[in-house]
Amino acid sequence: MRAAMSGASPVAYLSEIFASWQGEGARVGQRHLFVRFAGCNIRCRWCDTPDSLDRVRFCRVDYPDGRSETFSNPLALPTLAAIVEECCRLDSTIAMVAITGGEPMVQGAFLARWLSQAPPPVGCLLETNALVTHGLAAVLPGIEVVSADVKLPSNTGEADPWERHRAFLELCRDAEVYVKMPVDQDTVTEEVARAAKLIANTAPGATLFVQPITDADGPRWCIDQQRLAGLAAVASMHVPDTRVLPQIHKLVGIR
Ligand code: SF4
Repeated sequence: MRAAMSGASPVAYLSEIFASWQGEGARVGQRHLFVRFAGCNIRCRWCDTPDSLDRVRFCRVDYPDGRSETFSNPLALPTLAAIVEECCRLDSTIAMVAITGGEPMVQGAFLARWLSQAPPPVGCLLETNALVTHGLAAVLPGIEVVSADVKLPSNTGEADPWERHRAFLELCRDAEVYVKMPVDQDTVTEEVARAAKLIANTAPGATLFVQPITDADGPRWCIDQQRLAGLAAVASMHVPDTRVLPQIHKLVGIR
């Protein structure tokens, strides 16, 4: 195990770094380097990355050439930049760095420093729950694409996400944005309509991906097709480019 360099450098908590194909949203099938930040500001009842909800002690790096290495958290900025550079050098098909979590914007100050001082050699996609606006303005100049989730209260228990989602999407007005809306059998129809209206008003032209939540134990959807079609129809009344897209990586059994 390697101890991270620190000194005066900004540091961050990460849980894993690996290359795979993007399995969600508008960039499905593109080769991405996933840089997963540890720690999240909310607790979705269907969280698909439970190992990254809190600040973990170690970050595992799986390099494209098959080597693996474990780093102690927190990682210093030069350490992360060197890892990302090395991964992109080893796999020239990596099209983007997917900055994901957890919720990466919880460590927004680090993100802003990383992307401005030592940007990755390819563009960056920010995967976010779109609830943390603090520091976003400083992060966005380093981001090529924003993949923003809309978190419905019936799925997350978050009492009132609406104003935070509105503020987040308004800050992203000049970025390339698409929105994902995870749904299951218990998703409340009125919340889907409210979220779709909010997206239409704050991110006009964005594609909305209605994402059936996948069972943690296997590739089964937690919603039947009739209910899914009904929720997608409600969303499409407000967002014309509404599509249904499951998490492809779960269906085919890849990371
Ligand atoms: S926002 Fe993402 S990481 Fe956080 S609880 Fe929800 S699914 Fe899990």
